[in-house]
This record gives sequence, C-alpha cells and structure tokens, in this order.
Amino acid sequence: MAQEVKGKIGVTTENIFPVIKQFLYSDHEIFLRELVANAVDADQKIKALAATGEYKGDVSDVKVRIELDEAAKTLKIIDNGIGMTEEEVDKYINQIAFSSAGEFLEKYKDNIGAIIGHFGLGFYSAFMVSKTVTIETLSWKDGAKAVKWTCDGSPEYQIEACDKADRGTVITLYLDDESAKEFGTKGKIDYLLGKYCKFMPVPVVFGKETEWKDGKEVEKDEDKVINKIEPIWTKAPSDLKDEDYDAFYKALYPMADEPLFHIHLNVDYPFNLTGVLYFPKIKERMAIDRNKIQLYCNQMFVTDHVDNIVPDFLTLLHGVIDSPDIPLNVSRSYLQSDANVKKISTYITKKVADRLEEIFKEQREQLEKKWDNLKLFIEYGMLSDEKFCERATKFVLLKNTEGKYFSLDEYKKAVEPAQTDKDKRLVILYATNTEDQYQFIEAAKNKGYDVLLLDCELDAHFVNLLEQKMENTRFARVDSDTVENLIPKEEKIKPELSEDAKKDLDAVFKAVLPKEYEYYVDAQNLGEGEAPVVITQNEFMRRYREMSSLGGGMNFYGEMPKSFNIIVNMENPLVAKVLDERKADKDAKPEDFASGNDLLKQIADLALLAAGLLKGKDLAEFVKRSAQMLK
Ligand code: ADP
Repeated sequence: MAQEVKGKIGVTTENIFPVIKQFLYSDHEIFLRELVANAVDADQKIKALAATGEYKGDVSDVKVRIELDEAAKTLKIIDNGIGMTEEEVDKYINQIAFSSAGEFLEKYKDNIGAIIGHFGLGFYSAFMVSKTVTIETLSWKDGAKAVKWTCDGSPEYQIEACDKADRGTVITLYLDDESAKEFGTKGKIDYLLGKYCKFMPVPVVFGKETEWKDGKEVEKDEDKVINKIEPIWTKAPSDLKDEDYDAFYKALYPMADEPLFHIHLNVDYPFNLTGVLYFPKIKERMAIDRNKIQLYCNQMFVTDHVDNIVPDFLTLLHGVIDSPDIPLNVSRSYLQSDANVKKISTYITKKVADRLEEIFKEQREQLEKKWDNLKLFIEYGMLSDEKFCERATKFVLLKNTEGKYFSLDEYKKAVEPAQTDKDKRLVILYATNTEDQYQFIEAAKNKGYDVLLLDCELDAHFVNLLEQKMENTRFARVDSDTVENLIPKEEKIKPELSEDAKKDLDAVFKAVLPKEYEYYVDAQNLGEGEAPVVITQNEFMRRYREMSSLGGGMNFYGEMPKSFNIIVNMENPLVAKVLDERKADKDAKPEDFASGNDLLKQIADLALLAAGLLKGKDLAEFVKRSAQMLK
C-alpha cells in the first residue's frame, strides 16, 4: 500500500479555484463535457496500446459510464482506459493542469474581461460544481497500484492507496448544494450528455434503456448508450450514400424539413477540418434559425455559435464542423483575427461554391427543382461575400415568369437579340408579382420580350448587384415604362407642346388622381390603338425605396412618397377628345374643368385600375360612373 501523502498542489496562484469559478461562471455545465472527454481519451489510449500490441489485456468492452446518485449528490465518471499511476496523478493532476492554467492566466491577464466561457481547464472544471472531487485510478501498467486522490477545492490534496481492482479511472464529484440542484438530476445529465457527448468516439453509458409496459415506462436490463448516432463526418464520403446523409440530418434536426443538398468537408492541410453541411429550405431570411451549425472538437461538442468562424451567410446552413484547429479558449474578437479561423472560413466558402457548381453541372434538373428554396441563400451569399459572388455568377439561376430557369450566360444569350436597346445596352425585364403586373407582363411578351420573376425579399438588392456584375446591362421592371419605352429602339418623336400646355395637362390630370401619391405627367405618342393613359413607376425610385425598406442605408428614399409617371397618349382619340373639350373651356380652372369631365376621370381611372391603384371610394365611383356612361 502506498504511503498516505498529504501535499500542496503545485500552483502558486493560491486563488486558482475562485478564478476558475469566476471565468467559467456562465458555462458551468461544460464540466461534464471535459470529464467525459478525459475519460474517452483514456479509453482511446488503451485501445491504441492494444492495437500496437504493447497492451495485451482485453479492450473489447472499453466505454465510459456515468453514474448519478441523486440522494447522495454524487456523480461518477467511470472509464476503463489507461488509468494513472501515482506518479502520473502527481504529474498530470497536481502539476501540469495547474501550471497550464497559470500560463493561461498569465497570457490573458490584461484581457481577462474579454475571455468568454470555455477555456478548457479540463479536469479542474470539476471544481466548478463540486465540494470535493476524488480520483480512484489503476494504471494499465504491469504491477501498478491503485491510488485515490482527494481534494476539497483548496490547494491541498491527499493521495493514498485504494483497492480498485480493474483498470481505469473513477472520478467522483461530491456536488455542492447549488450544483446538486442545477445538475444533480437524471434529466439534466441526460440533457448535457445529449448536448455535448452524442458523437464521442467510445460508448458513453448513462442509466438503462426503457420500454413501455402496462401503460408506464419501465427500465430494461440493458445499458443506455447515449452516443448511438454515428458521426458520419468522420467517414470517407465514398463510403456514404445519400440516405446516410439524410438520416444523419434527421438525427440532428428531427423537426426540420428535408435538406436540399449536403456538402462533405474534409481537409487535413494546412488545418484539420471535417464536417457535413446541409442547405436547408430557406424561404425567409429572417425566419431562419441561425444557430444550427454545431462546432465539434474531435467529436466533442463545443458550441452552436459559429458566427465568428464562418461568414455570416453560411450561418444559414445546417450541419456539423469538427476541427481541433479552432482555438476555443480565446475571446470572440481574437477568434475573428485568428489566421487559422480565416483560412477555415475561406475554405468553407470555397467548398460551398465548389459543391454548388458541381450540382449545377451534374444535377441541373435537381437544382432547378430546388432552386426556389435555395435562391435566398445564394443571393444573400452573393450580396455579402465578394468571393462567393464571383463563383456564384457561374451557377446562379434566373427564373422567368413562365417558370423556365437560365444561368446568367444562358439568359443573356437568349434575350440579347430582342432586348438590346438603341444604345446597344441589354435590357433585362422582370416582374415582382405576376398577378399585379399581369398586363405589363403580357404586353412585354407580346412584343417578343422575356420577363424574369424576381419576387424574393432580396431581389431589389440582387438586381443592383447584377447590374454591377453584368456589363452594359440594365434591369427594368415591366411596369417601369410603357412597353414601347422599356427598351427604346429608336429616338422617339415627342409630341410638341408649349410650356403652358404642358402645365395645364399636368394640372388637369393631377386634379383627378388620388392625392396620396406624387405624379409626373408626360405627353407621349404611343399610337392610336394604345391605351389613353398608362401609369408606370420609375425603376430607380422604386428600387431604392424597396432597398431602403429592407435596410441598406438609403433611408432618404425610404421616406419619399410613392411616385408614378402618368403617360398621356396624345395619339389616342379619347385623349384628343378631352383636350378638345379643354380647349373649348380653356378659361375654367383646371380643377373645375376636371371635376365636370367624366371622360377625363374615366380614362384616368382605367389607368389606375390597370396599375392596381384604384381602390375604395374611388373604385366605387368608377363603377357607378361606368354604369352611367353605358346607358
Ligand atoms: P487535458 O485533458 O487538457 O490535458 P486535464 O486537466 O483535463 O487537461 O487533464 C490532465 C491530464 O490528466 C490529462 O492529459 C491526462 O493525462 C490525465 N487524465 C485526466 N483524466 C484522466 C482519466 N480519466 N484517465 C487517465 N488520465 C487522465
């Protein structure tokens, strides 16, 4: 039997425990992860020794067992790994852990406030929740003697012989009263193991499997292994089928819709990173839960806040990233400037782009089928990440109002012949709502133009981006002008009007239009057979207003009232008739003339109706007036 030894833990920082408690305060629960990770390590080490033949004993049942005694307020973490000799306990527990904590504190002493949560003090995190901790351990080495280490949270410890007969280590936590309340229940331990340990590489056992019998849940005589789901990211992609990826997704997010596509990440130089990411169905950017990517370190869960590790748009993805090379023990601001983290972020962005390009080339049909749910992610990525944008111009799809999909290049080629204007600029037409803009869409199609459907919340910004990327190209919503003028092919001869006549036309029409908007009245020759009045909305004013309402720093436009162009077709006989009547009554004030002229009201209302602007009382009056006029 080893002599009982009393000693002082080799640390000069007398107040190490208060420090541990303080810094890990917000994250007390990680103690379990740290202790299970140590136990898993010990188990893996014995397996490694057995594999090389250095250890000849049995390693077929290597596992970690968690035992909770709620009444006694004790929690045991038990492994049958390599164990420790007395010398090793002294070296690893008494000396090393404290000196590395000391180093850590030394390094960050000027920046202590910025240190967050977890900084992996490993074994000593046990003291965040315990009054006393004991280690009972028997090393795998021949002739090793079992020892028991006891420490009550002061720098004093005790080490003595004990009668542990089997290889491995039992860590016993005597939970303090507060921690016993917080962590000392089966439910809480289940939760913590599920959160942190569900992919650890050796079986972790807690409690028994249960079954329903005679209307109640009863325990079976079978250990419950909490990490049954296989961490598929540790396997080679060639050994996995689509079904495996889908099943893994289901296990991670049981409530979520099926993902659209997955990406398997696997790199070992210049940093280590593995993982599987999924593109979820995204319909609304704001509705999406961003904390779905889980970060692991050697299969041990670390966090689901990866916002400092991957670019913002990638936080829309789901899945798992595992990397031992992401520094976990530093502040967030430090993380952002870390060279490895930057490389990782670039790598993931590139992989996502590679995968999408591959899908574009090899699974075009699938891509088109899923595009509507993928589009927001891609557009958001293009808008927020320059590099991704460059790549995405190859695979981003455009959908037209007939539901056909095109790549940027394909679309350009398809519409170039009909939609190049007199200045040799390509004009791309789009609608944001096929119902509201039906008339304009039809008019454009009848002229041989194609109309894209851009109805997603980011499209106003996206259109701007495409205009910057595509040379000599302009986007115009179908209702931003009359179909004649959307893509001007030759200089138009404008009707000649004196300044006074222009002013009068302006006043007369404004008198019959709803007061809440602003108008620009413009006389044009659209042809005899075309509508008397057409209402359009200036492309740029509208677009800037939409962008600023989405947030884009252009609030100036956001506050402006909606404005419309009132295009009066001087070649239309009804317009000619109204203008003749005006000529005959030229001394009346414009408002008075307008209020007595039903034809004027009627042609203005028809235009409002077509633009979806005739509502409420004005609409009722229009109906009444129409009935009168039909008599
Ligand atoms: P870290 O795990 O980061 O090295 P810890 O404080 O958690 O720091 O542990 C210190 C050392 O103590 C470990 O490296 C290991 O050598 C030893 N150790 C801890 N727990 C066990 C265990 N359950 N079995 C065997 N050795 C252990």
